[in-house]
Amino acid sequence: MKRALISGITGQDGSYLAEMLLAKGYAVHGLVRRSSQFNRTRIEHLRKEDQPLELHYADLGDQTTLRRVMTKIQPHEFYHLAGQSHVGLSFEIPESTVAETAVATMSLLEICRDLEAPPRFFHAASSELFGVPDSFPQTEETPYRPVNPYGCAKAFAANLGRVYREAHGMFIVNGILYNHESPRRGESFVTRKIAASVARIHAGSTEILELGNLDSERDWGYAPEFVEAIWRTLQHSQAADYVLATGTSTTVREFAIAAFGEAGIKLDFHGAGDTETATDCATGRTLLRVNPKFYRRVDSHRLIGDPAKARHVLGWQPVITGTRVAQLLTRAEIDMLDK
Ligand code: NDP
Repeated sequence: MKRALISGITGQDGSYLAEMLLAKGYAVHGLVRRSSQFNRTRIEHLRKEDQPLELHYADLGDQTTLRRVMTKIQPHEFYHLAGQSHVGLSFEIPESTVAETAVATMSLLEICRDLEAPPRFFHAASSELFGVPDSFPQTEETPYRPVNPYGCAKAFAANLGRVYREAHGMFIVNGILYNHESPRRGESFVTRKIAASVARIHAGSTEILELGNLDSERDWGYAPEFVEAIWRTLQHSQAADYVLATGTSTTVREFAIAAFGEAGIKLDFHGAGDTETATDCATGRTLLRVNPKFYRRVDSHRLIGDPAKARHVLGWQPVITGTRVAQLLTRAEIDMLDK
């Protein structure tokens, strides 16, 4: 039985990955951190008597425990997904973001290097390491030019992963992940925020959805499809870096239009820039407005990935993109409220 260890198993990707690996017959181990409240809602459904799923306490800052757990489990595959994953927040808490994202990854690489049989190591890098790139779409060869502390930390960790692959001959994969969403996405992310707000408005709430730059473009995919790609990277005979993206561009405006559309609401936009609003075509009621408070300090506004390498080498082809993601998330929120 193959053993997989997942850091960040309680997160969006970790939970889908655990589900997939269990279905494939893996023994799955997950790292969880201690908190005053149980925070396992995304994996609760997997905690069954007959399921080979074991959780281990280990914070990313606790190297002694990480080493002990890694040495005990001796995983064949290690999926390193844990860390502070919110770009905007990384300006507020840069030190812990860098500690969790960059320094902890270095510790984990070192811990794995010391094992007799180092596991295949997947590192969850991010499109944010490209920052404000000169070329579109971005490939594995696009230079790293991060514009926020999160991107800087991911760039450091990805570079280090490549160095360990080349210098120590370890099987290290950097998955350069573009945004991927699901109903399990954290509520502070714009996609989930839009979907949840639309569902509440659909259910009768009088709130107004406030957003930052409506013309920001993103390459949005669907998380269950992305964890399939993550798994495939470790099954290939060669370790490499992969851009994992859909290759399609959707603006925040298009995403919002699709989300409201899923709730049967058609939007009319008025004005531009900082004072732009959108009303319900049928009632004239204001449902959305721009609030500059949500503008990013520096917006990585054209992050669109070219997944050609993942398609050719791994045979991975995501099909759920942008506005379809918006519909799926909104439908899930509406169904949840209905229940
Ligand atoms: P989530 O924020 O949903 O999950 C993060 C996970 O990391 C949670 O399990 C969290 O635990 C855990 N974690 C955070 N800090 C620590 C710590 N100090 N010690 C132990 N565990 C910790 O992220 P996603 O699942 O969405 O993303 C997975 C990875 O992929 C992340 O590294 C993210 O940066 C990266 N990525 C994701 C993208 C996306 O669109 N989803 C895009 C690009 C990169 P807890 O539940 O206790 O908070």
